[in-house]
Amino acid sequence: MAGEPQADCLFCKIVAGEVPADVVHETETTVAFRDINPQAPTHVLVIPRAHYPDAASLAAAEPGTAADLLAAAGRVAEQEKVTGVGYRIVLNTGSGAGQTVFHAHAHVLAGRGLEWPPG
Ligand code: 5GP
Ligand code: ZN
Repeated sequence: MAGEPQADCLFCKIVAGEVPADVVHETETTVAFRDINPQAPTHVLVIPRAHYPDAASLAAAEPGTAADLLAAAGRVAEQEKVTGVGYRIVLNTGSGAGQTVFHAHAHVLAGRGLEWPPG
């Protein structure tokens, strides 16, 4: 069924507590934790507890949870005290765009110069 945990999904295992993560923020529908390979001084991943392969499929199936994801990203930015300097929310979609984990996730990046357009 759509949204159900997938046995072979790393981020479902983090949601279930089967794989450890440095969790910084949680809601009923989302979990946020530090990226294991940070690309900026602040690099937090915000994921829905439900499994969808990417942000667009999450938004199509559960628009409320997609909104929760964006709200949680904003809360993380506040917690990290980066709202003043600015931060970037990135939703890599598809392997051609650099997506490597096919459980929807938003990167929250801040703390260094962020080039535009991104590479
Ligand atoms: P993507 O490349 O799919 O947009 O982002 C996946 C992110 O997950 C990468 O930035 C990668 O460093 C991170 N990542 C991969 N495996 C783990 C893990 O086991 N724990 C944590 N905290 N992050 C992970
Ligand atoms: Zn998953």
